Amino acid sequence: MIGRHAKKNKNHAPVMGVVLAGLFAGSVALAPLDGGSGGSGGSAGPGPAKLSADRAERSASKEAEKAPSKPPDDCKPSEATDHGYSNGRIPTKELCPLPQDDEFLRADAAVAFYKLNVAYEERFGEQMCVRSSYRSYEKQEELYESMSPGMAARPGNSKHGIGVAVDFCDGVQNEDSPQFKWLEDNSEKYDWIHPDWAYSSPYEPWHWEFDIGQED
Ligand SMILES: [Zn+2]
Repeated sequence: MIGRHAKKNKNHAPVMGVVLAGLFAGSVALAPLDGGSGGSGGSAGPGPAKLSADRAERSASKEAEKAPSKPPDDCKPSEATDHGYSNGRIPTKELCPLPQDDEFLRADAAVAFYKLNVAYEERFGEQMCVRSSYRSYEKQEELYESMSPGMAARPGNSKHGIGVAVDFCDGVQNEDSPQFKWLEDNSEKYDWIHPDWAYSSPYEPWHWEFDIGQED
């Protein structure tokens, strides 16, 4: 109201400015009283304010759908290898769920994966596409028998069997994709690597591993 009035009387700016400043100061001083009383001042105010609050709420709930930054609290990296189960024999309750449905990794790899996943989402606007993560012994056997020689690890030897490897999709499976390039440039910050062998023998651009150092 005051703003519109001020524009109309632009010519009288010097005088009006002083008057309006006084009025404005007065209205500011009165504002808390109006707000508190819930009287006539309330009819114009809450409308737009409420709308923008709703908008904020909506974008906050959209925010909530975004990639979580860490796994559930019972995923403890310090206990990642304490379970004592061998390759491919780890019950999923000993592993940590990934944000991607039905995918699991051991705790230390999972914690690192969550961070990688968040960074990837910031870059590409969607979470990582995971085709395979932890793989049971039976599943490894199945793959080994169905693949041509050298294309799958001997059952009991796969990094998938200890829950530290992931096969990606949606671009990463292609070495020329922006997704693959981004991972090459950034994954090590999150302790994920593309092992040397996967560049050639066999060629598996989709296969990435949590960096467990020189374990074997
Ligand atoms: Zn793999």
